[in-house]
Amino acid sequence: MTLSLAERLGRNSYQLDEELSHIEIDQVAAKRTGAGKILEAVCPAHVYTAQPDGSVGIEYAACLECGTCLVLAPAGVLTWHYPRGSFGIRYREG
Ligand code: SF4
Repeated sequence: MTLSLAERLGRNSYQLDEELSHIEIDQVAAKRTGAGKILEAVCPAHVYTAQPDGSVGIEYAACLECGTCLVLAPAGVLTWHYPRGSFGIRYREG
């Protein structure tokens, strides 16, 4: 049986750190650089949403910790670190 990507990702579990986001956006820099559309396009988990005013929405609970955004975000926009110990994604597939 072949599973779709969505089905495979759905097998993972997450321990959400509700007190501390591991992703922060400098919204002024995001508006200046147009980072929202870049981040929205590159994140496989749809963590980022480009807002009409140029700011960037974040849904950090869905992060796969792949690091793609960290590589491709314009300089000065993104602060990213792994979630605190025991929090974050737990892979069940692949
Ligand atoms: S680390 Fe990967 S999954 Fe997490 S926000 Fe960045 S691109 Fe998205």
